[in-house]
Amino acid sequence: MVSLPYPPRSLYYDGKPQSANSGKSFQNIDPSTSLPLAEIHSASHADVDAAVASATKAFPSWSQTPAIQRSRILLKAASLLRERNDELAAVETKDTGKAFSETSAVDVVTGADVLEYFANLVGGGGLNGETIQLRPDAWAYTKKEALGVCVGIGAWNYPIQIALWKSAPCLAAGNCMIYKASEFTPLHSTLLAEIYTAAGVPPGVFNVVQGGGDVGAYLTSHPGVAKVSFTGQVSTGAKVAASAAGGMKYVTMELGGKSACVVLPDADIEQAVDGAMMANFYSSGQVCTNGTRVFVHESMKAKFEEVLLQKMQFIRPGDLMDANTNFGPLVSKPHYEKVLSYMKHGIEEDKATLLYGGPGKPEWLASANSEVKNGFWVQPTVFTDCKDSMRIVKEEIFGPVMSILPYKTVEEVVERANNTTLGLAAGVFTKDLNLAHKVIAQLQAGITWVNTWGESPAEMSVGGWKLSGVGVENGRRGIEAWVRNKSTLVEMSGEVPTVFAKL
Ligand code: NAD
Repeated sequence: MVSLPYPPRSLYYDGKPQSANSGKSFQNIDPSTSLPLAEIHSASHADVDAAVASATKAFPSWSQTPAIQRSRILLKAASLLRERNDELAAVETKDTGKAFSETSAVDVVTGADVLEYFANLVGGGGLNGETIQLRPDAWAYTKKEALGVCVGIGAWNYPIQIALWKSAPCLAAGNCMIYKASEFTPLHSTLLAEIYTAAGVPPGVFNVVQGGGDVGAYLTSHPGVAKVSFTGQVSTGAKVAASAAGGMKYVTMELGGKSACVVLPDADIEQAVDGAMMANFYSSGQVCTNGTRVFVHESMKAKFEEVLLQKMQFIRPGDLMDANTNFGPLVSKPHYEKVLSYMKHGIEEDKATLLYGGPGKPEWLASANSEVKNGFWVQPTVFTDCKDSMRIVKEEIFGPVMSILPYKTVEEVVERANNTTLGLAAGVFTKDLNLAHKVIAQLQAGITWVNTWGESPAEMSVGGWKLSGVGVENGRRGIEAWVRNKSTLVEMSGEVPTVFAKL
């Protein structure tokens, strides 16, 4: 049997790795070469039941552990994550195909930041309720109580970050979690579980199951589960939300987008191009908040395209561990085929003008080593003079494909930017800050930026509008998604109000 670069990834519950009873496994693939990375155990229904039982057993004690003590344990986990940053980032690079220059600076760091944020929040009284004096002899108080056993289901683009954005507030609030990574990028899952255990998270509080949509669907419908937090496509999210609704489970849905990046007529062109490139080519275009509809005022379109073409040469594919590389392959073969088919559709059916790139093999691959030739590499691509009706403009491609859409007036661009069923992110580039706020106020999106793109710090709540999602992650509001309210009214007058005391 050929040995694989990484040891098998098992399931994880009761505080330790567990072999799947299913006896089944699958392999995850290195996107830069298309070679297998590890054997991944596939959870059966009985395996999922065992993980849920482990979490159910751990819940009473963890939820009753003082918040300050939970906080201390989670802060320790955050510090272990930071200590192991480069090792974990290298694993993420292998699994996702994202350059190490990115994963080492963003993926683990932004996950650890959120863990630290929620640990500090609950340690500092963030789970306190309210007291309401109703009259001198009566008052009410509210408590924020943990929900129980919660499920986190992740996408493949920011695996460990997504795992932490879900598990951090979940555990901080006193819940237990069953986490399922995307079947395309499962390597981080048990490493994170081991880090939680090493930090002192008790057995059963954070658990991992492996598998694809069938395992996710079983988890979502499980009667022992109180909440599902999901990150993925709109179409999958709709199924997950419907299934969860049947069991009256709480949900958070972080779904896809087709966000508008609006370059207002007075914008600094260099800055607008920098922003638009970050909004389309970072992580090889595999970012949910990407601003793939780039609206450029007609007066500046020629100059914008000139500067963009100059800067496209700064996109550097290559050895993913080289600090100079800033562009990797797409995550998987099916995704590669999907993105290429959109590029072809843009040319053949939408008849958009191809300004750069396209569906051909990247030229640099011709002289690359033979292993890399089989990776899922595509060219960063720009279409211009696009129309709102084109499929490449309407649908989320989730690859490095920018569509430039010229416009004439600010009123027109606002209307066109909002003319979509999605509403994840939006942003404007301008020197006129009054105009910036006026336009932002009219854009229908949950995450918006002015003169920048993509930063999503722990302190800022993020979530989509319309079909892009339900609820938010991060920030003060983020904790509310992991607690339920209990209100208690206390009567101290010595008399029970009743209409039945006398005739
Ligand atoms: P996906 O919907 O194909 O899969 C996401 C997860 O759902 C995977 O773990 C998968 O195994 C699981 N799954 C599949 N079918 C299921 C079912 N019936 N029940 C339960 N679970 C099921 O998404 P993807 O291709 O992995 O991720 C890309 C998408 O994620 C893009 O649309 C992107 O915009 C979105 N995304 C959104 C955010 C955000 O914060 N809004 C962040 C990252 C990615």
